[in-house]
Amino acid sequence: MVFQSAIAPGLGPVTSSAAAAGATLTIDLAAIRRNYRALAARLKPGTVCSAVVKADSYGLGAARIAPMLADAGCRHFFVAHLGEAEAIRPLLPAACAIYVLHGVMPGAEAECLAAGATPVLNNLGQIERWAALAKREGRRLPAIVQIDSGMSRLGLPPEEIERLAAEPERLAGIDVHYVMSHLACADEPSHPANRAQLEAFEVRRRLLPAAPASFAASPGILLGPDYHFDLVRPGVALYGVSPVSGVPSPVEPVVRLEARVVQVREIGPGTGVGYGHTYIAERPMRIAAISVGYADGWIRHLGNRGAAFIGAHAAPFIGRISMDSATIDVSAIPGEIADGTPVELIGPHRSVEEVAVDAATIGYEILTNLGTRFHRIYVDA
Ligand SMILES: *Cc1c(COP(=O)(O)O)cnc(C)c1O
Repeated sequence: MVFQSAIAPGLGPVTSSAAAAGATLTIDLAAIRRNYRALAARLKPGTVCSAVVKADSYGLGAARIAPMLADAGCRHFFVAHLGEAEAIRPLLPAACAIYVLHGVMPGAEAECLAAGATPVLNNLGQIERWAALAKREGRRLPAIVQIDSGMSRLGLPPEEIERLAAEPERLAGIDVHYVMSHLACADEPSHPANRAQLEAFEVRRRLLPAAPASFAASPGILLGPDYHFDLVRPGVALYGVSPVSGVPSPVEPVVRLEARVVQVREIGPGTGVGYGHTYIAERPMRIAAISVGYADGWIRHLGNRGAAFIGAHAAPFIGRISMDSATIDVSAIPGEIADGTPVELIGPHRSVEEVAVDAATIGYEILTNLGTRFHRIYVDA
């Protein structure tokens, strides 16, 4: 017997009007464009700046962002999965390359080629399968070859690099656009692994047939020209998150998240707030329930941490974060607080980086978790 999903097809993300929405996510396309240009301007002469648009451009909408960056002159895009490449291929000029960081899954080679995507080949198996397709097709096929320089995640490990060096015919039919690698500790500029990986990359890539090189993501760009090579791969910095803490950000913020007040109430001393009563009022308080919760990516670890803002006034989070709502202390805010009042969660008073610190995580995780229930506004001033 076959069971079918009971979920109505095509329900998809919630798209409500701004008036009905519990929260609004505003994404500044012009700021992303300026960030792209600011990063490109830091590169050593001749280095090309790509854009990493995996995970739906870190949750901000690759269908809007990738074409905008192509208009701004970007010609190289990176995604993680083939499906992500297929989604943006029709939106980009044919001259733009879309590289798939995970390479190609067994059996998906023809789909990858048909999608006009270029795999990042991470091991000898992927190289063999892509070369076999080139042979079947009777033409050369493009690829990036990734080598591991010390992160032990993706890319050919040293023994596979040696094997490939001894048997270069394994690359027959493959047009290697770049040899790339990825840094493990670039967000800690003084970490000795950065130099060690740079040296390993230089030595190992010379074992392979000569090709342009790509090494740095956002934090690697800030390590300086030694790390730039021929192509850099920024992601998070495009989206306004400072890639290295403790140094001035090379980019400007891109995202504003505003939830709204659903209900305001007065509570007396001894009153518990939210699930588990993890917050107990010690004095008379005025509190507000707002329309954002962990199902929107306002993760549960943010309970009792940090503050939202009403205008310029801080309203600390109290109690646990629920699935769809959270509670803030508005006792110190003068005047009436009407239902529907906007509450800034990310914006001029509170950066993605500050939220990430409160959540014991990184800006990447805050951004990529931002939910599908928000009303989205793209501005391009
Ligand atoms: C995600 C990723 C990037 C982009 O990293 P950021 O730190 O967001 O700039 C670049 N290269 C690889 C291999 C990645 O996985």
